[in-house]
Amino acid sequence: MATMIIEGERAKAASGETYEIRNPASGELVDEVPKGGPVDVDRAARAALKAFETWSKLTAAKRREILHKAAAHMLSKVDEIAPLLTKEQGKTILESRIEAQRFGENIAWFADLADKIHGEHVTLPDLTTYGLVLRRPIGVCGAIVPWNFPLTLAANKVAPAIAAGNTVVLKPSSTTPLATLACVEALIEGGLPEGVVNVVLGQATGEAIVTHPLIRKVALTGSTPTGKRVMALAAANLKKLTLELGGSDPCIVLDDADLEAAARAISVGRFFNCGQACLAIKRLYVQEGAYDELLEKLVARASKLKVGDGLDPASRMGPMHTETQRAEVEAQVEEAVKRGARFAYGGGRPQGAGQAGNFLNPAILVDVPDDARMWKEEVFGPALPVRRIKDLDEGLKLANSTSFGLGSSIWTSSMAAAQRGVSELEAGYTWVNALQIAHDELPFGGTKESGFGKEHGLEAFYQYTEQKSVVYGGL
Ligand code: NAD
Repeated sequence: MATMIIEGERAKAASGETYEIRNPASGELVDEVPKGGPVDVDRAARAALKAFETWSKLTAAKRREILHKAAAHMLSKVDEIAPLLTKEQGKTILESRIEAQRFGENIAWFADLADKIHGEHVTLPDLTTYGLVLRRPIGVCGAIVPWNFPLTLAANKVAPAIAAGNTVVLKPSSTTPLATLACVEALIEGGLPEGVVNVVLGQATGEAIVTHPLIRKVALTGSTPTGKRVMALAAANLKKLTLELGGSDPCIVLDDADLEAAARAISVGRFFNCGQACLAIKRLYVQEGAYDELLEKLVARASKLKVGDGLDPASRMGPMHTETQRAEVEAQVEEAVKRGARFAYGGGRPQGAGQAGNFLNPAILVDVPDDARMWKEEVFGPALPVRRIKDLDEGLKLANSTSFGLGSSIWTSSMAAAQRGVSELEAGYTWVNALQIAHDELPFGGTKESGFGKEHGLEAFYQYTEQKSVVYGGL
């Protein structure tokens, strides 16, 4: 049985309770894990505070060295960790390998920033005084992670936090804790001191982290309703927050675009991870002159996506993570179809795939009414609504017509049109003629109801520090 990790030790829940982790492709039992609660979070927060005393006082160069060594050790275990991620989450083994690799690389990327914290000297009106602005670590940070990218989204929080000298209480999603535990264990084996990263498990640990008085900052990736609840709870102790929430990313394709490249990026953007990505392309708006050709190319690509158990190397799309999630996407599609939408490709469940698995075919839908759920809500699965647009003005208006503002893309060979997209799309990220990849170097995060705060980049690192102004007098 897997356990939580508190102060470097394997820990059971104080209550003694456990729950099961099941494989989304087969329903088979993968493991049993502790069902932690507030008592376990309290233990983890105290362990993290104790570790903060020493971790934050190491030289930054030493922290960098420790993190590089720990990351290298974790990366040597990618081949063991990836199948575990596929078994608990469902994604294909290729996707799991990429994700496990990204975990280690992310720790190494932020390790390089550990000794590059810069402050400022500020001149003051009184020349016998001297002003400085310093940056210090915050303390114990909470990291709350969803099930769609358990490792990437954990590393996005843990890596900048510990590189800046903080310590962490990490809560994976209840249904995807196993690969995360394996990654953190590998970091500890590779030399990360005990208590710097603690892992608690169980649904109830989420609110316990948000309300724990020793935890000074919380970073959550999750749905928008969860973000609202967390923000309300965090108000009680005025906790710092980073909220990476839901998205319904629009993609606009104009007549003058490279349609082959666009089709490739849209297909990856919508169907990677079985469509369960916050920055997936969830709404497609195509100008009239490009519409038929692009649709044909998208259908050709979707038809090559073999749906099956993620452990089978031939599979290109695994099952959906849960039955509830599949039912939600099916309901969104059904509502559109009942109101006149048609399948340009796919739909339904694959024939012959394991009956116990949560498999769903990729689907491309046209003639979806403008007020259908698929345009207004987040579709967290492999179904893409496509709509004709007259011109860029119409595309931009439709693209901005939701409460979300995470990512967005535009495909065109016109610099002027691209620039309008960049300045007018209401989103934290705009890809122009590019695959939707969240680069380490660029700050990632949403606007509107997709949240606030950044992950990735120097910005994320600095969000795990706080500034202090200093006046030296009597000089
Ligand atoms: P979720 O909101 O249900 O859960 C996310 C995490 O929050 C889980 O660990 C969960 O246990 C925890 N949680 C739930 N309620 C909580 C509460 N009241 N207090 C504290 N913690 C709580 O989301 P999910 O279904 O696991 O993930 C899918 C959602 O995540 C989608 O909406 C997706 O768009 C979003 N997401 C956003 C990003 C981003 O970077 N913006 C990335 C990936 C996923």
